[in-house]
Amino acid sequence: MVDRLVNSEANTRRIAFVEQCFGSSGQPLVVPGRVLVGEGVLTKLCRKKQKPRQFFLFNDALVYGNIILHKKKYNKQHILDLENVKLEDIPDEGLLRNGWKIISPSKSFAVFAATNTEKKEWMAHIRKCVSDLLIKKGTTQSSDNDSPVWVPDDDATTCMHCKASEFSVLKRKHHCRKCGIVACNSCTSKRWLLPLQSSKPLRVCLTCYNQLSNTNNAGGKTRKYTPIEIPDSSGDDSSDDDSTMPSAPYSEDNTYEGQFQSYEEEGPDYKSGDTHQ
Ligand SMILES: [Zn+2]
Ligand SMILES: [Zn+2]
Repeated sequence: MVDRLVNSEANTRRIAFVEQCFGSSGQPLVVPGRVLVGEGVLTKLCRKKQKPRQFFLFNDALVYGNIILHKKKYNKQHILDLENVKLEDIPDEGLLRNGWKIISPSKSFAVFAATNTEKKEWMAHIRKCVSDLLIKKGTTQSSDNDSPVWVPDDDATTCMHCKASEFSVLKRKHHCRKCGIVACNSCTSKRWLLPLQSSKPLRVCLTCYNQLSNTNNAGGKTRKYTPIEIPDSSGDDSSDDDSTMPSAPYSEDNTYEGQFQSYEEEGPDYKSGDTHQ
């Protein structure tokens, strides 16, 4: 079905519009063979709270960004290569409902849809696009280099590594970039280069550091980083959060279309294609 949209004018127009909404802050999105399969607003679980993000599902990529003006202006564009994207269901718990994990080497996180139907639709469409892409490319997925989904700050009151340190204003929370746990500063004092996530060495917990060191030694490579001890008060954790930017000026009463808007079964191009058979 998606294939029928490849050369459609409506598809190209839609993608150009998305590109335009991101403006110069985003990457060019109009690429030969790319199809915009659907779009919608999902809530992304960030470090401390849930925030609405606009998601665009293409046949080769999942793109999302902050909403500045719904259907008009987005920024902070992220592009995940669908070839490496995996999904994992999150069972409903309390207020966190209709969620699932989006896992990839560069970024992994939890998202939540407004309804269960919407969740099912998103997951089915993403999975279909991923499997179509893998078949087309003749490749399979590996999980070796997936980045962790961060444990939300609120889920930890003590360090998940030493279990001894209780967090407070002075004992700050830090995330291990390899496994995603919340740990204290001394348990995350080491750094390691995780090239798929960043070009700079990132904070890892002691367990992950030891594992990474062992793996690397076994491979006979020397890519060991001198640990950088960072005092607790350094406040470097601002980089932990991808959501500490000035909040987008959308108003609280701005209601989003909660649905996954699919482009597969509509549009004049689609119909005109039929009549030419
Ligand atoms: Zn600790
Ligand atoms: Zn770790």
